[in-house]
Amino acid sequence: MHNRFDLIIVGGGAAGFFAAIHTVEKRPDIRVAIIEKTSQVLSKVKISGGGRCNLTNACTEPQELIEFYPRGQKELLSAFYRFNTADTMNWFLQKGVLLYAQDDGRVFPQSNSSQTIIDCFLKQAEKYKIQLQLQLNTQITEIKKENNLFILNTKQGINYSSTCLLLATGGSLHLSAYSFLNSFQHEIIPPVPSLFTFNLPQNNITSLMGLSMPEVCLQIKDTPFVSTGPMLITHWGVSGPVVLKLSAIAARYLAEKKYCFIFSINWLNEEKSTDASNELKLFKKQMSGKTISSTNPFHIPARLWMFLTTKAAIPLGRTYADIRKEEIEKLSELLTNDIYEARGKTTFKEEFVTAGGVSLKEINFKTMESKKTKNLFFAGEVLDIDGLTGGFNFQAAWTTAFIASETITERLKL
Ligand SMILES: Cc1cc2nc3c(=O)[nH]c(=O)nc-3n(C[C@H](O)[C@H](O)[C@H](O)COP(=O)(O)OP(=O)(O)OC[C@H]3O[C@@H](n4cnc5c(N)ncnc54)[C@H](O)[C@@H]3O)c2cc1C
Repeated sequence: MHNRFDLIIVGGGAAGFFAAIHTVEKRPDIRVAIIEKTSQVLSKVKISGGGRCNLTNACTEPQELIEFYPRGQKELLSAFYRFNTADTMNWFLQKGVLLYAQDDGRVFPQSNSSQTIIDCFLKQAEKYKIQLQLQLNTQITEIKKENNLFILNTKQGINYSSTCLLLATGGSLHLSAYSFLNSFQHEIIPPVPSLFTFNLPQNNITSLMGLSMPEVCLQIKDTPFVSTGPMLITHWGVSGPVVLKLSAIAARYLAEKKYCFIFSINWLNEEKSTDASNELKLFKKQMSGKTISSTNPFHIPARLWMFLTTKAAIPLGRTYADIRKEEIEKLSELLTNDIYEARGKTTFKEEFVTAGGVSLKEINFKTMESKKTKNLFFAGEVLDIDGLTGGFNFQAAWTTAFIASETITERLKL
């Protein structure tokens, strides 16, 4: 005996709820069930953005938006032309959720509480309670397709069937989490973490804990992985947007290296060592009476400048008049190519995601349908899509859920 639905959504997270609500809003006659394996739905929404839920970003131009996705860039372009960040904001505004954008583009509910987003979803779910049923604590163990129906078997022994199936099970670092998909033979790109900070154990730089730089350039040695942006020095290493971005673009490479790697910091962003050297030489002429450790031509904070001049072995009381050629060279090199060895990573508490998941090659992004199995759809982080911090991960979930839902509402007319 099966519990029969028109659409079953596996995963009661961001993508699952969004798709369910959009579907029943358009077609209240469609019988939808969300199946969730844990005792709580929307648990990631709850903890997202440090409890504030950075639900999207103020950047609305699809061409610009895709730049924030190390994986999924190409596929998301057309998807964003159909449902972008502005559409997300409208969607929530229409449901009475007031939003605001920070100067950095991050969009939050005006309440500054992720509970507002959860309440919004749960209210909508309740409004459509006849069609939308939550089957909590239910873990799908096997899915098969028989006679154009999906049959879902669960650990709890309850079985379900549906005409359409949307898989919105989110990301996981364990390949086994994707095993319930085995019967559809979708390629799974091995999952690895993205969005983390770099550990620099026993490195003196951590004595500068709390210091932030508005614009530095980081590069992983002997690789093309480069990132620029603000950086924060923490008590365990380095963090901030520039580090998170680099962790995302180099996620797979860093996993292979087991998070032990060499990287350089250009404290002057993209300035070259020769330019730094020229500026120091000019300072030698113009500021000859000043001590090197107390003043610098680069607007570098005093604590960091002291750290760099000490690292360059420049004696404390030395004046610019007495700076030696090799000291200028050493300091210029440190300013533009300061080398560090990372040993390990730390999860960034505000947001972390999985790089990897269901291969995008096997998904039609016009419909979010599997190219292998008719009426099987995917949305959210279960796919091999991930973004940088800033609301981009939720945006990918809303966009893919929207497209899947649009297709499903049409498909179930037939
Ligand atoms: C700490 C943290 C903070 C974050 N903050 C932000 C932020 O501010 N902005 C942003 O854009 N992104 C943020 N993210 C990322 C964002 O939360 C995810 O990208 C997003 O939740 C993905 O939505 P989803 O619906 O695909 O997956 P999820 O929200 O993870 O939902 C998947 C659901 O499926 C369930 N499930 C899994 N397998 C099964 C199964 N076999 N059977 C039944 N149910 C199953 C899971 O229990 C879960 O409830 C954050 C992530 C973390 C970890």
